[in-house]
Amino acid sequence: MVDLQGQYLRIRREVDSAMQRVLETTDFIQGSAVKEFEKALSRYMGGLNVITCGNGTDALQIAMMALDFKPGDEVILPVHTYVATAEVIALLKLVPVFVDVDENSFTVDVSKVERQITKKTVAIVPVHLYGQCANIGPINDLAKKYSLHVIEDVAQALGADYVFPDSMTKKAGTLGIIGTTSFFPSKNLGAFGDGGALFTHDFLLAERIRMIANHGQRKKYHHEVIGVNSRLDTLQAAILNVKLGHLDSYAQKRRAVADYYDAQLKEVTFLKIPKRAPYSTHVFHQYTVVVREGNRDAFKSYLQSIGIPTMIYYPVPLHLQQAYRKEGCETGSFPVSEKLSDSVLSLPIHTEMDAEQLSYICDSIKSFR
Ligand SMILES: *Cc1c(COP(=O)(O)O)cnc(C)c1O
Repeated sequence: MVDLQGQYLRIRREVDSAMQRVLETTDFIQGSAVKEFEKALSRYMGGLNVITCGNGTDALQIAMMALDFKPGDEVILPVHTYVATAEVIALLKLVPVFVDVDENSFTVDVSKVERQITKKTVAIVPVHLYGQCANIGPINDLAKKYSLHVIEDVAQALGADYVFPDSMTKKAGTLGIIGTTSFFPSKNLGAFGDGGALFTHDFLLAERIRMIANHGQRKKYHHEVIGVNSRLDTLQAAILNVKLGHLDSYAQKRRAVADYYDAQLKEVTFLKIPKRAPYSTHVFHQYTVVVREGNRDAFKSYLQSIGIPTMIYYPVPLHLQQAYRKEGCETGSFPVSEKLSDSVLSLPIHTEMDAEQLSYICDSIKSFR
């Protein structure tokens, strides 16, 4: 699914020397590479505040702490996504309110959001799934109408652009009050361990986020608010700083793989290839097909048996997860997400794929009966 070793070997000299510099200065916690990386990422994102932290899940939690949500407040999120969003909502004693997704974009179905808004709703978290933006324009309109916050989860779409109807573009993660991301090794911008970051245009909020990520202190041993201990290691920052320079070319390589899959697989009748939304560019964190006719698991086993790995993101929608069950959200409540959980399959896509691997995968797919 990924080739982190191959990717490392191509940039080994750059990465090794960046790591060596950290080892020599031993400033492992909040060292200079952290500031450098935050600055570089801010430039890449178009100049907003960047605050790094320990991982993408912490980034979501810190965002909700910084916005001062109170127990019982409701947060709207898609039901077909990674668990992290629901997890931090529940941990903070907020109430996750699920919305079904759109079967073509796999992201939150904008037409189903408004009916979930109540007096207790404080935020919407559109997750930019698989490398493509959710349709955040209409989401921002709703947020404005009801005075809600929008927190963008950009963990799978760092570098993607949202495209407005007038063709103006803005980077995913810069369109809400806060954007959050993850540098988990397999993400498009991956560290050699855990890492995360938050984005915001608001300077005061940025200061508050920085304080919360560091035990609620601005001044050492003076704790103004309850915080957490969530920092990006200096070593990881040094590595990420090198890899950030390659992020757009990595996206280019992923897009080339996706284009190849599109061309080869569009005639395969039992597969539906991923649609590209008109309102977003795609950085293809995943290339996810829908397998028709209830054949997904047999198809997956077949590919496995001939050495082709695939993954199911995600096999169980959040409302059917044991930890997140609630009344009124039984099987049948979110039919699109439930159907996707039974039929999606993500094919290998990464920066190191070669023509031989690609043709082997596509030829094998075409010969599945
Ligand atoms: C990976 C991911 C996260 C969590 O990031 P971690 O760094 O693993 O904590 C959150 N949301 C989405 C959509 C993700 O893909």
